[in-house]
Amino acid sequence: MSQYTPPLQDMQFVLNELADLHEIAALPGYGEATPDLARAVLEEAGVFASEVIAPLNHSGDIEGVRLEGGAPRMPAGWAQAYARFVEAGWPALSAPEEQGGQNLPGVLAAAVEEMWNSGSVAFGLLSLLSRGAVNVLRHAGSPELQQRYLPRMVSGEWTGTMVLTEPQAGCLSAVRTRATRAADGSYRLHGTKIFITYGDHDLVPNVVHLVLARVEGAPAGTKGISLFAVPKVLVNEDGSLGEHNDVRAVSIERKLGLHATPTCVMAFGDGAGAVGYLVGEENRGLEYMFIMMNSARFAVGLEGIGLAERAYQKARAYARERVQGVEQGGETSAKVAIIRHPDVRRMLLSMKSRIEAMRALAAVMAASMDQAALNQDPEVRDAHQAFVELMMPVAKGWFTETGLDIASMGIQVHGGVGFIEETGAAQYLRDARITTIYEGTTGIQAMDLVGRKIGRDGGRAIGAVIVRMRQVQADLESHAHAELRAIGAQLNKGIGDLEAAVESLVKSWEGGPKPALAGSGPFLELLGIVAAGWQMGRAALAADRLLASDPGSDFLTYKILTCRFYGDHVLSKSAGLRHAIVSGSGATLEFSDAAF
Ligand SMILES: Cc1cc2nc3c(=O)[nH]c(=O)nc-3n(C[C@H](O)[C@H](O)[C@H](O)COP(=O)(O)OP(=O)(O)OC[C@H]3O[C@@H](n4cnc5c(N)ncnc54)[C@H](O)[C@@H]3O)c2cc1C
Repeated sequence: MSQYTPPLQDMQFVLNELADLHEIAALPGYGEATPDLARAVLEEAGVFASEVIAPLNHSGDIEGVRLEGGAPRMPAGWAQAYARFVEAGWPALSAPEEQGGQNLPGVLAAAVEEMWNSGSVAFGLLSLLSRGAVNVLRHAGSPELQQRYLPRMVSGEWTGTMVLTEPQAGCLSAVRTRATRAADGSYRLHGTKIFITYGDHDLVPNVVHLVLARVEGAPAGTKGISLFAVPKVLVNEDGSLGEHNDVRAVSIERKLGLHATPTCVMAFGDGAGAVGYLVGEENRGLEYMFIMMNSARFAVGLEGIGLAERAYQKARAYARERVQGVEQGGETSAKVAIIRHPDVRRMLLSMKSRIEAMRALAAVMAASMDQAALNQDPEVRDAHQAFVELMMPVAKGWFTETGLDIASMGIQVHGGVGFIEETGAAQYLRDARITTIYEGTTGIQAMDLVGRKIGRDGGRAIGAVIVRMRQVQADLESHAHAELRAIGAQLNKGIGDLEAAVESLVKSWEGGPKPALAGSGPFLELLGIVAAGWQMGRAALAADRLLASDPGSDFLTYKILTCRFYGDHVLSKSAGLRHAIVSGSGATLEFSDAAF
């Protein structure tokens, strides 16, 4: 099966030149995050991802997870790999020191997570969910809950889940799982949840479920939902494991992809009730769950990037070895590797340029998350927070939609064998398919973006980002280097289309949400390609600057060409998207339901 080579050079370029790692290292507690340390961490993670995780991806897909004697059994090799993952301290990379973590910045952890996902998204999902559960307990859990559960969840010795979905309730207001107060201050839960990722497995002795449920007598709708920590195995006063809680995996879903993750139907309280502990206060569950969902949304965006990188590497390797056709305009009539054909090169560059653009935007967002949490200046913190909130639907929605398209293009590069499972390219597409759905579909992200973050905000947050984009465009357009001026010209058009779309959405929102929401999908894509184009503009400027002291660098020379390709082939789509947003709601709204 295909090898994975961690893209360390690009990751370091992005961290140092675009995400301003030196500024992150100046934040309180992050003094050790120097470029040297970052390089060492990335190299170590790269070895783990390529040598331990990546080899399990295909075998895990084939073998899948089985329910044996009521317990999910993970595929061969996963238990050993996970034990090594924990032993090496990877789950605790960005957790605070006082909780047993290594306190490294989120921007570095994001690059590392991309590698886990390139190795295997099915593997990466386990720590993704646990990290989210840890975040919620850290912010909203009582000192007692924190003391009992956090250290072993941070270390990865126990894992966590996110338990929202019920058969009738994709929509959270419809949650029916019940919680009743018990005499000892805990609760007893009864209900069925579906689609619970890593709901049960044999990699660790305990799983801590964070479950949404309704306390008896709670208000109807989302205002009456509370959050509970429900361990698979109850924990005794002295920290040892006690009795099995009244929680079990009833079945494992058969899925299109991610065969090596147990996606479980979970029964809580088949008997006397599952013992649960309230997280925070009653009826504020949704608010707490959003802490988890926001970190998970960004992390799912990183799944899109990681999968796309792996699909690209596989396609590139195949294009180098597959001999087919003669080179048009070439010097001989001998057959050549397909990488010589202009259209194959276009596909590879389309994949590569979008991956680098997403990686850059993700790193800039992750750096902003670090700044929003730790900068000493409240105004700076607020500005970073506003940027992160605006861009979160793009990270979740656009990174994953783009990752899916890149995985599909990877199959196209392979031709017919790409469609055959043994080749392995198809798995990336199957695995990518869920990323645009879970943690809120792209449609829900687009609605959040246009409704809450553009319409109700009157376009203020995005206005501040556009000012920053315009500065980069001006630097590009006034540059001595023609390639950079060409990138600047495309960025100028992209930003113009974005401005026109924002103006139209803000205006139409005032008259009611429907026309604006009809354009929300195209707007999410437009903001994604322009924001990532802005980062590619910055990348081109940085590469040009660095070339002055390193004129022979292939990496920097090709970085500029990759940015140019992105401008010409990806950013240039902005005009069509603008048209769909500004003028395209008519048919969407005029079609009757019956006419579809
Ligand atoms: C493999 C897998 C793993 C999962 N893991 C977990 C997990 O660990 N924990 C958990 O709790 N859940 C999990 N889920 C559930 C997942 O988060 C939901 O399936 C997802 O959020 C979509 O909800 P839904 O299936 O109810 O779809 P629906 O909400 O029924 O959506 C169907 C379609 O309608 C659109 N739509 C729905 N409402 C609106 C609206 N208001 N406006 C515009 N469009 C709308 C959607 O975009 C979508 O295209 C998982 C699901 C899968 C398949």
